[in-house]
Amino acid sequence: MALVTKAIKGTQDLLPADSYKTRYVEQSMLDIATKFGYKEIRTPVFEHTELFSRGVGDTTDVVQKEMYTFDDKGGRSITLRPEGTAGAMRAFLEHGLFNEPLPQKVSYLTSCYRYEKPQAGRLREFHQFGVECLGTAAPAADAELIALGHEIFSYLGVEGLKLEINSIGCPECRKKYHAALREYFESKKDALCGTCLDRLGRNPMRILDCKSPECGEIAKGAPKVLDYICEDCSAHFETVKKHLDAMNIPYVVNPTIVRGLDYYTRTVFEFVSTEIGAQGTVCGGGRYDGLAEELGGAKTPSLGFALGIERLMLLMQAQGTPLPEEQRTDLYIVSMGEAANVAAAKIAASLREEGISVQYDVAGRSVKAQMKFANKLGVRNTVVIGDSELESGKIIVKDMDGGESVEMELDGFEDSYQSYLIQNAVKDIAGADGFEVNISDLF
Ligand code: ATP
Ligand code: MG
Repeated sequence: MALVTKAIKGTQDLLPADSYKTRYVEQSMLDIATKFGYKEIRTPVFEHTELFSRGVGDTTDVVQKEMYTFDDKGGRSITLRPEGTAGAMRAFLEHGLFNEPLPQKVSYLTSCYRYEKPQAGRLREFHQFGVECLGTAAPAADAELIALGHEIFSYLGVEGLKLEINSIGCPECRKKYHAALREYFESKKDALCGTCLDRLGRNPMRILDCKSPECGEIAKGAPKVLDYICEDCSAHFETVKKHLDAMNIPYVVNPTIVRGLDYYTRTVFEFVSTEIGAQGTVCGGGRYDGLAEELGGAKTPSLGFALGIERLMLLMQAQGTPLPEEQRTDLYIVSMGEAANVAAAKIAASLREEGISVQYDVAGRSVKAQMKFANKLGVRNTVVIGDSELESGKIIVKDMDGGESVEMELDGFEDSYQSYLIQNAVKDIAGADGFEVNISDLF
């Protein structure tokens, strides 16, 4: 196949037949976040490379191996965002949002770019839904954030996700932990990969997150961070758990979670599935109290999570999670001849103004072909307008689901059709619940 008709490796098209599913899932997440007080933020797809090398951390896989970095024509080093937190925090600092009431709660839907080995659930361009709660150190915020993730999955009907939480302490208690880790890994030095040898000196915790199987095996025996966290961090973690218990959110403490980004402190968590292969982490997040200072701002304890849209869609597909049906076109106007086609355009315009979805022939097809097309579209109703209808002034609305056909005057059709829709909707409701509704009571 010619190069121009082939997408780049690790990228995906979302086609019309499926896009409504993703749209529904994304809209649900935004709506749920709104219930928790989150407002949308949009930041650029590219930023100064330094934002990520400092914000995400230059000992991470993301920065060391995965970033799409290039020099622009002005010689600046630019990077396509590998994640959303650094950009959100940059915007928070740049626009003085710290002067607004805190915490500032922001949400986003963004594309992210990582040069990784493409496989199921791992793409080079992927999409995240993320939330960031900026400017609070209280453990109640950690639990509320986790509750937001929990609510999203339960609203969407996703089952079997395990919530794993951990605390990775603060820079203070981490000093002790780093020392213990160094001692442990020093003794296994010969078996570590090259990247981890470098990490041993700079950030030994990163070794725990290495994807190489050899390092993973060694990491299993490493000291556990929970044994090293200080009293304050421990009290914080206990309160987070107390809130989760109170909200009936099931979790397990997994002392091996450290997360892939450098900026995390204290609470970290993941929602993990065993149904979509090795890439099972659908959502990950935690607290990053040091990030604002790392970027040159004032101390701003904060937290957030990111949820991979493609992985979630894979999981929902694997589970056969029911989704609402796609919205159907309500009316297709079949037209015979030029005058009828013009009349169809006019009717469509005024019905669309009333919020009704209408299509008519814009391809110059025969009546038979239009009927076939309407059928394929799966429209709810059709009407035919031809010379004889224009002459008699009467048209017939045909219910494509097999209901009764109804004759209407062409004159004032828009109003009659709307009443017809309302009557049908009321019938549906009354039919479903078995009660009677007097239509005139509705107006
Ligand atoms: P992993 O361990 O799978 O590499 P990560 O720790 O790099 O994940 P985060 O940076 O925390 O992931 O990103 C949050 C979420 O974004 C992940 O839980 C996942 O759902 C999704 N995600 C991350 N990288 C990819 C990718 N390359 N392709 C698709 N989704 C991804
Ligand atoms: Mg990764």
